[in-house]
Amino acid sequence: MRLAFLINAAVVLSGFTAGPLNALEPFNKVVLDPGHGGKDPGSLGFGLVEKNLTLDLAKRIEKILVGKGISVDLTRRTDEYVDFETRSKVASLSSKTILVSLHFNAHADRSISGTETLYWPGSESGRELASYIQSELGRRLVTRNRGFRPERLKILELTQATSVLIECGFISNRWESQRCGSEWFRQILAEEIVQGILRYRTPAG
Ligand SMILES: [Zn+2]
Repeated sequence: MRLAFLINAAVVLSGFTAGPLNALEPFNKVVLDPGHGGKDPGSLGFGLVEKNLTLDLAKRIEKILVGKGISVDLTRRTDEYVDFETRSKVASLSSKTILVSLHFNAHADRSISGTETLYWPGSESGRELASYIQSELGRRLVTRNRGFRPERLKILELTQATSVLIECGFISNRWESQRCGSEWFRQILAEEIVQGILRYRTPAG
C-alpha cells in the first residue's frame, strides 16, 4: 500500500508542474467495485437490497466515463459473490488505475442519512480523490454531507492503487431509501461521482 501510494503521489505532483501532458495523468483506468453480490446482499431497507443498487450505479458510472473516453473495468457485472482479494486484483492489473468501491448504508437508527467517502489511512492520493468525490455529492440535490475520512476497510487495504469507498446513502432511512431506489437519483449520483473522478484526473492549478 505504501509503495503504491508513493508512486501515485509522485505522478500527481509531476502532473501539477508539467501542465497538460497526458502521459502524466494520475490514472488511465477506473475500476468500479459494486459492493456485495450473490450470497452477500449487503444492507437491506424498505424493500431495497444494497447489492442491486451498487451494480446499477456502477453501470451508470461506467457508461458516462466510457462516453468521455476513459477506460473502465467492473469487479462484477452480475449478481455474483466476489471476494475482496479478487476485487482488489482487478485494480492491480494495470499500474495507472484507481478503484472506486460503491456502497449504500444502513443503520439501526433510521433517522441517520447522508453520504460519505472513505480512504485508507495515510494515503494522500486516496484522501484527495475522496475529497473531490465527496465535494460533488449533493451538489445538485441537497443531501446530508457526512464528509470524507480515513477508515481501515479490507478492500482499501488490499488494493495496490489509489482507492476510495463511497457510501451513497442510507437505505434504512425512509426518505433517503426512496431516493436511492429511484433511477433518476442514481443517475444524478453517477454524474456527481464522475465529476469528482474527473476533478482528480485534472487537478486545478
Ligand atoms: Zn456495503
